[in-house]
Amino acid sequence: MSSVGGLLEPLPAPLPRDRGDASPPMICSQVFDSISIHANGDIVCWCVDVNGQRVYGNVFKDRIADVWHGPAYREIRDWLLRSRPDSWCPAIDRHCPLRVVPAAADYNGSAPRIRILKLEPVTYCNLQCPVCPVETGFKQVPELRETRGQKLLPLNVMLDVVAQLPDLELIEYFDYGEPFIHRDTVAFLREVRRTRPGCRIVTNTNGTVMTPEQIRAIAAESLLDRIVFSIDGATAESYRKYRIGGSFSKAFGKMKALADACRAAGTHCKYSPGRRGSVQITWQYILFEWNDSDEELALARELAQSIEVPIEWVITSGYGASKRFLHGSAEAMRLMDPPDFFIHMAANADIDVRLKERGIDNIYTKDVVDTDMTDRGEGAVARGPERDRDQDAAREAFAESDVPAPDALHRTRSAIGEWIVGIRRSTRPWRRAMKNGNRAVGRGAEKQELGNREYRNSR
Ligand code: SF4
Repeated sequence: MSSVGGLLEPLPAPLPRDRGDASPPMICSQVFDSISIHANGDIVCWCVDVNGQRVYGNVFKDRIADVWHGPAYREIRDWLLRSRPDSWCPAIDRHCPLRVVPAAADYNGSAPRIRILKLEPVTYCNLQCPVCPVETGFKQVPELRETRGQKLLPLNVMLDVVAQLPDLELIEYFDYGEPFIHRDTVAFLREVRRTRPGCRIVTNTNGTVMTPEQIRAIAAESLLDRIVFSIDGATAESYRKYRIGGSFSKAFGKMKALADACRAAGTHCKYSPGRRGSVQITWQYILFEWNDSDEELALARELAQSIEVPIEWVITSGYGASKRFLHGSAEAMRLMDPPDFFIHMAANADIDVRLKERGIDNIYTKDVVDTDMTDRGEGAVARGPERDRDQDAAREAFAESDVPAPDALHRTRSAIGEWIVGIRRSTRPWRRAMKNGNRAVGRGAEKQELGNREYRNSR
């Protein structure tokens, strides 16, 4: 951690430029127009600082403007502008995939405005995904358990944060942890909608803890512009290999329920960015070795199509990553078909390729426990007593909440599961999908660019 006794250590000298190097400075946009607030109130640059390595202030005791215009933020901006173009950043003492923006020659970053807020409402989660920092870091590393484990931002603090940011255009209401565990999620979204009608709000969820009341409110009042459901698989078996403790039928059922409710309320929107007053729902599907068969992808497409939700395939690396779908491959291009329904997000692969070229491990898993990735998956299941303790703490947090506790959720069987099994038995959609897929290979590059642009525009 680059903080001693609550004070930030000074940054090292900017990296010297090579003689004659007149290329523009390489910066991230984050410390120039965005702010990220952890569930413990810490202000950090962005989600790349998973563990709170460089904390600029804390919303429980500091005013954001003082921190944003204060010496520590000025120091990092100045460092980025003066250092040679490189992806290394002293804020996290490693390469950062976000330090990729060439600054205009005359840019000095002297009057930055905060346009984007990443707000992490909780670091509780009801699932135990093997390489998620919540599972591998916040629960396992004693120091992180203290600072990052099971934290929650109260409603009044979250609203005060928004009130302090007059130039806000976008709120990302998630980081690590499951946002719908926060019992005041709807109250927060509703108040932001009332006070900041021009501000877009997006979130990301595992879907499994959303309540019928939350679903009804989001649909009827259009409380989110975009909501991404992380559902990695189209069958119960493959889904639970990564989403440990979750249930495919529950996650998909909640996504369907929201899509249905939005259609009934006239707020459903299929594509991102959607029209104002609509809710765009996306199924995000990380491609792993165990969920990337033609049959399973075709089934996912069929299910997505049946509820009019686009899929965002994620090509990733590291733990369990698909060996079929590699960034830029013809196989990956096939994911773009049929074009109406699928978005190809290659950002993770881009990051990984860039880091690998420099011999660097995936940034999201570097600072957590140094054990083999495979062990983590098994560890998440095997750590019975520790998980029980975590769940006890979670239960306390849930005590006054309308949201049922996670263990109860795990036991509940949804009727939607039976419905999906029925669809699997009665449909054989993959022959048709495969035929379309082969045709799409030739058009893949163009579609990939369109998909990536759409993804960027939606952010
Ligand atoms: S780690 Fe550095 S380059 Fe990356 S977002 Fe933070 S300040 Fe910007």
